[in-house]
Amino acid sequence: SSASTPIRATLFPGDGIGPEIAESVKQVFREADVPIEWEEHYVGTEIDPRTQSFLTWESLESVRKNGVGLKGPMATPIGKGHRSLNLTLRKELNLYANVRPCYSLPGYKTRYDNVDLITIRENTEGEYSGLEHQVVRGVVESLKIITRQASLRVAEYAFHYAKSHGRERVSAIHKANIMQKTDGLFLKCCREVAEKYPEIKYEEVVIDNCCMMLVKNPALFDVLVMPNLYGDIISDLCAGLIGGLGLTPSCNIGEGGIALAEAVHGSAPDIAGKNLANPTALLLSAVTMLRHLELHDKADRIQNAILGTISEGKFRTADLGGSSSTSDFTQAIIDHL
Ligand code: NAD
Repeated sequence: SSASTPIRATLFPGDGIGPEIAESVKQVFREADVPIEWEEHYVGTEIDPRTQSFLTWESLESVRKNGVGLKGPMATPIGKGHRSLNLTLRKELNLYANVRPCYSLPGYKTRYDNVDLITIRENTEGEYSGLEHQVVRGVVESLKIITRQASLRVAEYAFHYAKSHGRERVSAIHKANIMQKTDGLFLKCCREVAEKYPEIKYEEVVIDNCCMMLVKNPALFDVLVMPNLYGDIISDLCAGLIGGLGLTPSCNIGEGGIALAEAVHGSAPDIAGKNLANPTALLLSAVTMLRHLELHDKADRIQNAILGTISEGKFRTADLGGSSSTSDFTQAIIDHL
């Protein structure tokens, strides 16, 4: 509707394949008449002293002001005396939960046809607290921080998500038999929240057993909630069940209702700049952003076009066994709108 004012959303094209797949999103949104005006922000080439990272203060302000955004993958240069870009975003915007839906795509055959999982990852602490140091030569130490506040917050989000999305069960994934204090506190918080949701089944599963069960029969799970590192690993495992990292979206939920959607995958330097990347994961992430904005008609239309294109099988990117370029696959989606 040209009469209504467009909604402003922040877009970080990101690194590696990021700009190529962000271009797909922009094209598909344009063709589907999505009333969104992108505010594009690039990762800077020097450190902004206000953020101590290559992300500018203005780009963070843009997300805070708009409340919604989409980010491409950002490469993490190793050990150069600045904060990781992704960690900066998570900390500065308080992105406390990362929601990763993962479902079988009709017409794209993998070992399972019935995958329908939601991984909810605690996003601010745990093994990602950035507290590593050398004790003496040859001995290093890394601190895993678990707080009651962050654990309750992510557990609350998981149960709220389950209830509002018609899900039946929440499984807390842990290793509390070994990490007794940290994962023990995480579980205690999950139990407390579970009591407030008697209509949702609650269970606790040890992470190693969870991996085995997921690979053997993914239908054993529904919504999974877990500390940071476990969420990182389990969601890649889930992606593998349905066809790989080119397919799986995510959405970061922040305090004050911020939603910053992003693909699960990284910058894929091995295929960057070659027009080979699968834009599906970023496109489906953009769809979660539309759902957050309650633009369900547009979300449905774009999601159906993506799934229809993959299911038809004429145009698929190399990661799905096809030979289409990013741009030909994108055009096929546009033709399906
Ligand atoms: P990666 O996800 O970039 O790549 C892993 C494999 O999957 C590669 O073979 C890649 O070609 C393939 N792949 C990923 N996305 C694809 C797509 N859309 N289409 C087709 N194939 C795809 O993981 P990595 O190689 O471990 O990491 C590369 C960089 O990305 C690192 O700097 C890492 O820190 C960063 N990273 C960023 C994020 C993020 O921004 N959220 C997440 C993970 C990794």
